[in-house]
Amino acid sequence: AYWPASGDLVAENLSARYSPEGPQVLKDISFSIKSGERVGVVGRTGSGKSSLTLSLLRCIFTEGNVYLDGRPTGAVNLDALRSSITIIPQVPELLSGTLRENLDPFSQYEDATLNDALRAAGLFSLQNKNDENRITLDTQISGGGANLSIGQRQIMTLARAIVRRSKVFILDEATSAIDYKTDSVIQSSLRSELGKDVTLITIAHRLQTIMDADKIMVLDAGRLVEFDSPAAL
Ligand code: ATP
Ligand code: MG
Repeated sequence: AYWPASGDLVAENLSARYSPEGPQVLKDISFSIKSGERVGVVGRTGSGKSSLTLSLLRCIFTEGNVYLDGRPTGAVNLDALRSSITIIPQVPELLSGTLRENLDPFSQYEDATLNDALRAAGLFSLQNKNDENRITLDTQISGGGANLSIGQRQIMTLARAIVRRSKVFILDEATSAIDYKTDSVIQSSLRSELGKDVTLITIAHRLQTIMDADKIMVLDAGRLVEFDSPAAL
């Protein structure tokens, strides 16, 4: 069977550091997120939000266990893990080439599949059908994605993750007001189009973004100090 079938994500006593002898930047974190849940992550600068995402992808030194869809991620090959959990960074990098090549570098998919992913990522609801400059699969992307806005790049990164059937999406929310609309489009597209079997974690800089999250995770100096519904906090 295809793994992961769900976005269930469990951490048990997760600790992390950037070098084997370095200080712990995450300390004994445990949580359980059910597939389909929306989780907002907040905490001061330096509290460990980005480190948490890196530790889920095993990009830094970790102790403890992480389970995705019931399987310990330590036993999963890194490529599979990194297609199953996608981080959408604040400033995503794209490849130069067409949008089609960015979404499907090995030409494995039909255009219809790629267009479905773009729709699910919210691209079409942000652009006018009759605009002659609208983005399509044939649009040329210059190095890194410099000819696209940051929000558009986030959407492309999201669409690529949808194509490869990622189950956990971690969105590093854009801080600038300009991207607020894109941000809310991404949030609502993910929820309505991808349904119950994916998990969306948003590192939030605006309370507005996470007030309707199912749960909010509060980090402080590398520790998980709250993990509950917004109403309970
Ligand atoms: P921000 O809101 O500013 O993005 P954050 O909550 O994402 O902050 P992290 O980047 O996870 O914070 O940082 C947590 C701790 O890890 C900090 O003490 C920081 O100094 C340390 N840290 C972050 N990146 C590195 C790195 N590449 N090498 C060593 N230590 C790092
Ligand atoms: Mg950060």
